[in-house]
Amino acid sequence: MDVFKPLFPCVLALVCITVLGGCSTNPATGESQFTALMSPAQEVQVGASEHQKIVQQFGLYNNQRVASYVSEIGRRVTQNTERPDVQYKFFVLDSPIVNAFALPGGYIYVSRGLLALANSEAELAAVLAHEAGHITARHSAERYSHGVVTSLGAAVLSAALDSSAANQALGLGSNLYMSSYSRGQENQADTLGLRYLSNAGYNPVSMSSFLQSLSRHSQLESQGSENRNQASSYFSTHPATDDRVQKTRAEAGQFRPDGEINREAYLQNISGLTYGDSAKQGFIRGQSFYHTDLGFGFDVPPGFRLINQPSQVVATSSNGGVIVFDLAPSQGVADPGQYLQSVWMKGEGVSGFEYLTINGRKAATGAFPGSVNGQPVTIRLVAIEWQNGQFARFQMAIPGQGNAALVEQLKAATYSFRALSTEEKARYRPYRVQIVKAGAGDNVQSLASRLPFGDLNEMTFRVLNALPAGAGLTAGNSYKLITE
Ligand SMILES: [Zn+2]
Repeated sequence: MDVFKPLFPCVLALVCITVLGGCSTNPATGESQFTALMSPAQEVQVGASEHQKIVQQFGLYNNQRVASYVSEIGRRVTQNTERPDVQYKFFVLDSPIVNAFALPGGYIYVSRGLLALANSEAELAAVLAHEAGHITARHSAERYSHGVVTSLGAAVLSAALDSSAANQALGLGSNLYMSSYSRGQENQADTLGLRYLSNAGYNPVSMSSFLQSLSRHSQLESQGSENRNQASSYFSTHPATDDRVQKTRAEAGQFRPDGEINREAYLQNISGLTYGDSAKQGFIRGQSFYHTDLGFGFDVPPGFRLINQPSQVVATSSNGGVIVFDLAPSQGVADPGQYLQSVWMKGEGVSGFEYLTINGRKAATGAFPGSVNGQPVTIRLVAIEWQNGQFARFQMAIPGQGNAALVEQLKAATYSFRALSTEEKARYRPYRVQIVKAGAGDNVQSLASRLPFGDLNEMTFRVLNALPAGAGLTAGNSYKLITE
């Protein structure tokens, strides 16, 4: 957000002196602020409309017990903030990515991925308190206001103050909730969050212990254990550096050290939480992708790495092969050949066109020359009849002159597309968080061996349970496992 800095002084002066007649002083931070385009009422309006987009993009995690628990903790940490005008609302997003963010108007979100990483009620409270800090300090309102100024320029500011124009203008800043805060804003939210956390009776050290877990989790992700979209992780919205761990630990010393942690209560509340991709998102098991909600599956060749993205599944291989799978509306065309040629290829023409039958479904294929990262490839398309006015589609890139073995592998992937039987739908299930008590004979290795992540079992177990290398279990304590 450095882009705003050169603009800021002159725009600030213009707005404060000539248009609105004054900046406001923030009751939480004591600083004067540039929030010219957003009154508290507008914050509520922007929050409500952005909230719809977020729910559409991620979906809410459908578990009333977890939702109520998060709201209860959220209310506890926000009841004594400096902005009693704000109605705080808390939501759990159905996303495996570890993230939390806030919108103007009091909307605070945590992902189920973040809930699976936290180890106590106090750590969850710390995350919610930090987000509340962004709201009371009006960081997101500032981002929106700055975004509007940058988009429109100062010349049209007075026009933008008319409410319908302002709303239109605010639309230009959509998705700003996903952009990152400045380091100064992060530190300020940490400081405010620590105060709210301690006022609510929680142990303030939990802020730094959760930041420590976030840092270890990012190391785990860099090991490639999870196919996550890093662009929307906690680190992209809240640039968390290791010095935040140190800084919040030192700052916690200013507060009562004896607050609640509530580890056991927290673990019992997240018991059974979905981990990783859900049935609604489809999930990867080995070289297969299963979508048990939509009822289909397919396999990719050995050596291909599957990545589940929101609108498509991608598999890539070191030999240059690429497979992209998605579902697309048939646009009123029932025949797969006609769909492929006239809708998908828009009449551009393909070579090697033919009809196929794939596990009883009518399909069509054709190829054309293309390029991937500047390298010439043959792109083969396959459209397969599916349900509800949709085609299942494969796009496959075959590098260079074509490699007979790779072509055979990709053909096998195509022919593996199938509807899942009732028995398969019951057998393939998303992972869940399971809470177990360590017995006297248990150790890290024995519990970690029950995870499904192979070589990464121990590292994953240690990260999820905040056990640094070398730390052992305490018999009788509860720990998180990931199981099917
Ligand atoms: Zn933050």
